[in-house]
Amino acid sequence: MAINAPRGTKDITSSDSYKWNYVENKFKELCKLYGYEEIRTPIFENTELFQRGVGDTTDIVQKEMYTFTDRGERNLTLKPEGTAGVVRAFIEHKMFADAQPTKLFYITPCFRYERPQSGRQRQFHQFGVEAIGSDSPSLDAEAISLAMQFLNELGLKDLSVSINSVGCPVCREPYNKLLKEYLESKSDLLCDLCNERREKNPMRVIDCKVETCQENIKDIPLIADHLCPDCQEHFDNLKKYLDEMEIKYTVDKKIVRGLDYYKRTAFEIISNDLGAQSTVCGGGRYDGLVEQIGGPKGYSGVGFAIGAERLLLTLEANDIEIENDNKIDIYVVTIGELAKTKSFSILKELRENHISADKDHLDRSLKAQFKYANKIKSKYTVVIGDDEINNDEVNLKNMEDSQQKTIKLSQLVDELKSLL
Ligand code: ATP
Ligand code: MG
Repeated sequence: MAINAPRGTKDITSSDSYKWNYVENKFKELCKLYGYEEIRTPIFENTELFQRGVGDTTDIVQKEMYTFTDRGERNLTLKPEGTAGVVRAFIEHKMFADAQPTKLFYITPCFRYERPQSGRQRQFHQFGVEAIGSDSPSLDAEAISLAMQFLNELGLKDLSVSINSVGCPVCREPYNKLLKEYLESKSDLLCDLCNERREKNPMRVIDCKVETCQENIKDIPLIADHLCPDCQEHFDNLKKYLDEMEIKYTVDKKIVRGLDYYKRTAFEIISNDLGAQSTVCGGGRYDGLVEQIGGPKGYSGVGFAIGAERLLLTLEANDIEIENDNKIDIYVVTIGELAKTKSFSILKELRENHISADKDHLDRSLKAQFKYANKIKSKYTVVIGDDEINNDEVNLKNMEDSQQKTIKLSQLVDELKSLL
């Protein structure tokens, strides 16, 4: 019996990997433009990091984590998201002692035990940024601007930015009281999980995916209507900065985001034509997180994550094609043993000059070698046999327009350099 990839995972084969390279490089380029540097953190972390950093009452921690015990009885979890690991590294490497803010980006696989469907996998990938060390809405605005420029430069135009403020502990205290009273009056109509969350973290209820819950809490009080003066000012400034950059947004008071550590800004970027899984980017501010996982007080952060699979689906849905530039520059066709051996030094020289080249490895006939060169979309071919080697003369063929040219074999590299 053949063994397949685990449920919810996907191979990224050569028919797609060039697209991944393209979007990853574009993301790196944009991050650099905005002054963000790359960070790579481990694929697994101590489970406690996510319990504390993502939050005990979130869907991720309650239902979706890949947790296991290793041979040394350590409790570990495959990272379900990128922020907690980055913040752990920020603390562990005492980045807080450097000049702030610390602006980092990452590209990482993430793991969540979810029901697989289009745009929802068990291993998926996130592109993210984190700017830590300032609570100014200036970084919130910058993060949104970075994400939008990235998505726009990929060719996406039909995007909506939704923003909200989820307040801070000061405004949440009276608000949570109000919310708990409201939810208590609805307890008969809520799902079990919501009833559980009602006490511990009532705002989570707003994010519940159960339809009946959503229907029954249509008039639920929303934090954005109960912000303290500081949070209100923060939110107003964010809007001002976005206006200045002419980034259009709508305020969506129902965005609470799935993670516990969000404070103040929460935002989503939605592509308007992907159907069910339309959120390409989710982000926000996490003013308590550094402290929450054992770091010093006073280091807040803001960031976003873009789901790479959903991004690629969105590009496809918008008919945005990414060119595969992995075409080989030249395919060296050989006739006979002498040429077969000679082709090794020819290929070595071509490749040392960074001209991509390939040759026959299956002892194919002349015709079959040409057929193969066509199949791999080689830009040029050259035929080498005994005569060609002895006379130092070869035919260089442009495979696109079938034009041929006689050149010196010893001049092949220079000739190609001028053509490519
Ligand atoms: P959703 O509501 O769709 O479950 P989420 O709130 O769990 O999303 P985040 O935790 O904010 O998502 O993750 C950021 C981004 O990562 C999402 O906007 C989405 O693009 C992507 N993402 C999240 N979960 C998955 C998954 N299981 N498979 C593929 N992409 C995902
Ligand atoms: Mg989710």
